Formats: sequence, structure tokens, C-alpha cells
Amino acid sequence: MPLSIGGGDEEGLNHECKLCSQTFDSPAKLQCHLIEHSFEGMGGTFKCPVCFTVFVQASKLQQHIFSSHGQEDKIYDCSHCPQKFFFQTELQNHTMSQHSS
Ligand SMILES: [Zn+2]
Ligand SMILES: [Zn+2]
Ligand SMILES: [Zn+2]
Repeated sequence: MPLSIGGGDEEGLNHECKLCSQTFDSPAKLQCHLIEHSFEGMGGTFKCPVCFTVFVQASKLQQHIFSSHGQEDKIYDCSHCPQKFFFQTELQNHTMSQHSS
């Protein structure tokens, strides 16, 4: 799909991982990083939470999710807003960045 230009907060180093304070210049990079957090201590493998296919790189799992799964497959619901996520760490990061005071 085409990249939208000038989409407001999509650009710049303002996508912060609240779990370790690293910042990323795109939401996709942050998501990939959060996938890595999800599988810390799992021996370097990354398992799709929807179909359980195993990958050896977080970015490959991310690509797989983008191409094979959609919104309806997201399993973690935010209890404060309608957003949903594939990974618990994504939900944690979202909650800490959007719903903490
Ligand atoms: Zn992090
Ligand atoms: Zn899958
Ligand atoms: Zn929320």
C-alpha cells in the first residue's frame, strides 16, 4: 500500500518504547521493537500469536502479520479505548503512553 505523506504524528523520533525509553522514527520500527520485547528470553524465536508460525527475526514476524492477518485477528484489547493489538507489549506500551497521567 502507498505511504501517506504528512500524516501528522507518523514521522519523527516520537515513537517511544515506554518499557525501555528507546525512541523510533516510525510506528512500524517501534512495533518491531515491541515484538522483540514480547519474545525476550524465548531463545531467539518469534511466534505468530494468531497462527503460531515461528520466525527467527522479529521483522519477519511483523511482515507476516501485515500480509496474513488483519485488525480482526488482534487479541489484546485496550480497556480504556477501542484499540486492539497483536502483542501484550504493544498494549502495555500503548497504555503507558496514552492512558497514564
Ligand atoms: Zn523497548
Ligand atoms: Zn500468523
Ligand atoms: Zn487505549
